[in-house]
Amino acid sequence: MSAAAIPVTELKGAGPAVARMLSRLGIHNVEDLLLHFPVQYQDRTRVTPVARLWPGIQAQVQGTVELTSVVFTGKRSMLVRISDGTGFLDLRFFYFSAAQQARLTRGTLLRCFGQVRTARGGLEMIHPEYQVVDSLEATTASAGYTPVYPSTTGMHQATWRKLLRQAIDRAREDSELLQEFLPMALLERENFPNLQDAIVQVHVPESEQELALLRHGNHPALERLAFEELLVHHLCLRIRRQQCEHRAAWPVAATSPMVHEFVDQLPFQLTPGQTQVLQDIGADLGKAFPMQRLVQGDVGCGKTVVAMIAALHVVSAGLQVAVMAPTEILAEQHLQSFASQMAGLDITIALLTGAVKGRARERLLTELRGGKVHILIGTHALFQEDIQFQQLALVVVDEQHRFGVHQRLALRNKGVQAGRYPHQLIMTATPIPRTLAMTLYADLDCSIIDTLPVGRQPVETVVMPQSRRDQVIERITHLCAAGRQIFWVCPLIEESDSLQCQAAENAWQQLTEQLPDICVGMIHGRMPAQEKERIMGQFSKGEIQVLVATTVIEVGVNVPNACLMVIENAERMGLSQLHQLRGRVGRGADASVCVLLYQSPLSQLAKERLAVMRSTNDGFVIARKDLELRGPGEFFGTRQTGMLAFKIADLGKHQHLLPRVQRSAAELLMHDQITVNRLIQRWNRFALAYSQV
Ligand code: ADP
Ligand code: MG
Repeated sequence: MSAAAIPVTELKGAGPAVARMLSRLGIHNVEDLLLHFPVQYQDRTRVTPVARLWPGIQAQVQGTVELTSVVFTGKRSMLVRISDGTGFLDLRFFYFSAAQQARLTRGTLLRCFGQVRTARGGLEMIHPEYQVVDSLEATTASAGYTPVYPSTTGMHQATWRKLLRQAIDRAREDSELLQEFLPMALLERENFPNLQDAIVQVHVPESEQELALLRHGNHPALERLAFEELLVHHLCLRIRRQQCEHRAAWPVAATSPMVHEFVDQLPFQLTPGQTQVLQDIGADLGKAFPMQRLVQGDVGCGKTVVAMIAALHVVSAGLQVAVMAPTEILAEQHLQSFASQMAGLDITIALLTGAVKGRARERLLTELRGGKVHILIGTHALFQEDIQFQQLALVVVDEQHRFGVHQRLALRNKGVQAGRYPHQLIMTATPIPRTLAMTLYADLDCSIIDTLPVGRQPVETVVMPQSRRDQVIERITHLCAAGRQIFWVCPLIEESDSLQCQAAENAWQQLTEQLPDICVGMIHGRMPAQEKERIMGQFSKGEIQVLVATTVIEVGVNVPNACLMVIENAERMGLSQLHQLRGRVGRGADASVCVLLYQSPLSQLAKERLAVMRSTNDGFVIARKDLELRGPGEFFGTRQTGMLAFKIADLGKHQHLLPRVQRSAAELLMHDQITVNRLIQRWNRFALAYSQV
C-alpha cells in the first residue's frame, strides 16, 4: 500500500488531538509524515558527567534525584536537583503536574537531555526531556543520534519520534511504500539513492560520519531530497509563468508624447542601464498578457525614475498605477519625488498608508474608484479588500526583498478586474547571484541595471573601533559647519524592537550633548507615522543636520546632501544590510564616507566581513560574500518573512544543485507532464497555502 493512502491515524499515538495538530502542519498521511524532516540531530550516544557541562551546550546527563520541590522565584516552578557524583544539576519545570512531581522522589534515577545554562550558583536545564531509568550507564548507544523535528505548540518531540519510528519501520518492511517519481535515467545521471532509502537515512543517521554529512548538508540522501524539493519549486514557478502568459492584461503602447516630454525635462540623462530596462518594460507593456519583470539594480542606480516612466506610459493610456513600498517613510518619499518630478504634468498622485484614516480615506477611495487618482502610492495597505481601482493596469513593487515571496505571489491576483491582470514591475536592490535568480525567480523576467549615474563618487568606507568615537564627532562638527548632513545609525538589536528604539534614544541624547550647536534629530520604527514623516521632511530640507536612526532608514531614503554615514556596532549587521545603509550616502556629486564602528574585540569572521565592506562598493560582490559568510536563511530574511521556507533544501549548501535542477525541470516539462504533476502534488500538499496565494 502506498504511504499516501495510509492516514496518520493508523499509527499508534496519533489520536484525534495529535491528528488535528498534524493536519494543521499539512500532515495527513504516512507519506506526509515521512517528508517531515529533522531540523537537527542530537548525539545521545554519550552521557556527559555534570562536572564537564558547559553553559550553552546540549547534553545527555544521568543522575540520582536529590530533592524535588516547588519554588517561587518570580514564577512558580518545580525544581529537581540531580547528582551524578561529579556535581549537581538543577532541572527546572514551569509546567508540571502533581503526578509528575510525585514520581520524582529522592533516589530516583533519571536520564535527561537538554540545553545547559547558568543559573544562580550553578547550572540548570529548563524543561529537559527526561526518563526514569533502572540503572546508570556510561553509554546509551541504543538511543543513538536523535532527530529533532520542527514542531508546533503541544506536539512533543517524543510524539514525533514515536510516529516517525512507526512510519520508518513500515518503509523498511515495504520497499514500495513510497513511490519513486524521479525518472530512472535522472537518478542514474545524478548518482542519487532512491527516495525511500534517502528518507530513511535522513531520519535515522547510523554513524558519526553520516551525522557529520547530514549536518553539513552534503549527505547524498539529503542532496537527493533537496534536489527533488528544489525541482518542484522550480517547476511550480515555470508553470506559473506559463499560466501568466494565458492571462489577459491591458496592452499599453509605450509611445506617449508625455513620456518624451518628461524624459526631456529631467535634470539628468538616463544611464544606459536605465534605457535598456525601459526598453524591456516598454516591450512588455505592449503585450496582451501581464508583464512580470524583476529589475535588479544596486542602491542608487536610479530605479525610481524607471518606475516613474513605466507609470507614465500607463497613465497616458488612461489607466491606473499602484506603487507599493515596504515602509511608510519610503512611500511618503516616493509620493514627494513622483509629485515633484511630475509637477508639470496633469497627473493626480495620492498616498495611502495605514495612517490615512476615516473621512480622508473614504474620499481617497471614492476618487480612486472614479479614476480621478492616477497613481496611488502606499504600503501593503494598498491591497486591502475595500480598495478598488477604476482600471488598475500596473503594480510597481519597490524593494521587493523586503516583502518576501509570499507577499509577492499574493499580489498576483490582486487588482484583477473584468478578467484583466495588472502588469507587474518588481524592483530590488538586493542583487542575487545569477543561478539563484534563475531558480528562485523562474516565474519572472529579469533585467539588471548595471550602470550607476555618471559622476557618482564611490563611498569611501572606514572601519574603526567604538573607542575612536571622538574623532567621528569632530568630523561631524566640521561637516555640519560646511552645511553637510549626517546619518547616524544605531545598533541593530534583533531580539527587541523596544531595545532598539532605546538605543536610538541613548545615542540621540549623547550626540545632542556632544554637539550643542547642531540640530540632531531622531527617527525610529516605534514613532507614529506622522512623526516619522515630519522628521524625514525636516532632514530633507536640511533643518535637521544629524539624523539618528534605527535601521528603518535602510531602504530607499534619498537625501543627496548627506555625505557621512556612521553605523554603530556594524559587526552585528549583515553585509547586504550594511550595503543598503551605505547606499543612503554618495547620492550627491561630492565624495561621501561611511564609518563602520565596531565593538572590540572582533571575531575572525567579523573582521572578514567588515573587510569586504571596505574593499568593494559592488552590490553583487557583497551579496555573494554575504551568502558565503552568512548562509542564505539570514540573507533572504527567511526569519522575518517566512520566505522560501524549504523543508529540506538549503540555498547556501545546495546552490551547486541549481543548474542541474534547471536542466531536469526543462526536460520534465517537455517530456513528462505526468511526473511533473505527481511531484508537485507530493511536495506541494504542504505548501498549499503557498501555491494558492
Ligand atoms: P535606487 O535605485 O536606489 O532606488 P534612486 O531611484 O533613489 O535609486 O536614485 C538615486 C538618485 O539618483 C536620485 O536622486 C535620482 O534622482 C538620481 N538619478 C537617477 N537616475 C539618474 C541619472 N541617470 N543620472 C543622474 N542621477 C540620477
Ligand atoms: Mg529605491
